Amino acid sequence: MIQKPKQRLSRYFLFFVASLLVPLAGFFIYAVRFDVRFFFFLSVALSVNVTVLFLFYHRLKSKKASLKLQREEYFEKANLLKADLEKESAAIAAFREKIVSYSQLKGLLEALGMCLTLEDTVNSLCKETVALFDSRDITVILYLVDHLSGGIAIVYASRNHHAVNIKMKHGDIFDRWCLKTLQSLYIEDTRSDFRFDVEKVDDEDMRRVRSLLSVPLLVHNKTVGILRLDSQLPGRFTEEDLRFLKTIGDVAAVAIENAQLYDRVEDLAIRDSLTGLFLRRYLMERVAEEIPRHLRRDKGMAFIMFDLDHFKSYNDRFGHPAGDILLKTMAELLKNHFSDPGNLVCRYGGEEFCVLMPECTKKEAAARANSFVELVEKKDIVLRREKTSISVSAGVAWFPDDAKTREELIQKADTALYEAKKQGRNRVCLSP
Ligand code: GH3
Ligand code: MG
Ligand code: MG
Repeated sequence: MIQKPKQRLSRYFLFFVASLLVPLAGFFIYAVRFDVRFFFFLSVALSVNVTVLFLFYHRLKSKKASLKLQREEYFEKANLLKADLEKESAAIAAFREKIVSYSQLKGLLEALGMCLTLEDTVNSLCKETVALFDSRDITVILYLVDHLSGGIAIVYASRNHHAVNIKMKHGDIFDRWCLKTLQSLYIEDTRSDFRFDVEKVDDEDMRRVRSLLSVPLLVHNKTVGILRLDSQLPGRFTEEDLRFLKTIGDVAAVAIENAQLYDRVEDLAIRDSLTGLFLRRYLMERVAEEIPRHLRRDKGMAFIMFDLDHFKSYNDRFGHPAGDILLKTMAELLKNHFSDPGNLVCRYGGEEFCVLMPECTKKEAAARANSFVELVEKKDIVLRREKTSISVSAGVAWFPDDAKTREELIQKADTALYEAKKQGRNRVCLSP
């Protein structure tokens, strides 16, 4: 509050009083020393003075009262202005914070705009969210919806720029609530929130979460995921934080949806629609990438080409759709048999399949190809409750001993396959 200054006695009033008293004193001295009749004038002057003084004093008093009133009004206005000013400065500070946040949001938009794949989008989104809510005690968690099961699965969890191991990989009761209601969740303190059973929460997750923000990532009312911030401290978030997270969530949902579409389209371009295996074009690119890598590491890689034996007769006997089922079965068998990390199984065309086995010896590749040929030979393929069978032939070529280029490697495997067919099929031949 502004303090009122002390009131001072009017200096002018004293002057005025003095100017009235001095002539009176003159009259008095003159009357005493020279002429007694001057006492009459003195008394008249005195009464005039008293009257003037009284009137003057009265006016002064009322002026003082009005001044006092004015001053009080002024102080009141000043205090109101001060309160307004304080409010304005708080608003300016909040606005400044918003400008900072929205410029960071611009950074997030730019980062997401540069991402095409889902992996890049998720990484950028989480990294930027961690930066926006930069604090040691805040954990950022991103769940994505699995469109097959309809449930959610954790794809990112980080606190203070370190990965966090969350026990509830498919979300806890808070996430399930979000998923069910499609609404954002703001909990100041889990201990005093009547909507959730705290003991149940603690049993589920040992992290003992106390405050939490969670927003469903919605695109056209379809949930693509959940973005969540939580802390082991109560009252860690504000309504403003929730509003900001919702804005991030809106941006993130669209980016995730686009990235998923991009991945799907990219997948369609490199995968065969019947078997789900990679197409020949993708295989060619991968072989081209692997050749210099293997040269640098001084290691070999195998290229195996498989071809179903007498598949035309199989089609003729059981029909083309049955042939398609057989191709699908063959693809599954190949994927399982050559499932080691790094191996690449593809449909080369028609009833021909290829397997690229990086960093392996020719002997290992031949053994693996042989065991596959045996597996197919023994495999019963049930078609309309009827058992059918097929065999497969394979040709194996090895880089760098059998070939120095991609084309030569494929051609050598093809020649070895032709040899296997020539020798009676249902066997593996190695490039000489
Ligand atoms: P070989 O043992 O010499 O390889 O005999 P084959 O009959 O397997 O060889 P051929 O190349 O003469 O026949 C391949 C057959 O594969 C011809 C074609 O009808 C069939 N085929 C190619 N693509 C598909 C497909 O997508 N689905 C089905 N059902 N058949 C296919
Ligand atoms: Mg063929
Ligand atoms: Mg064939």
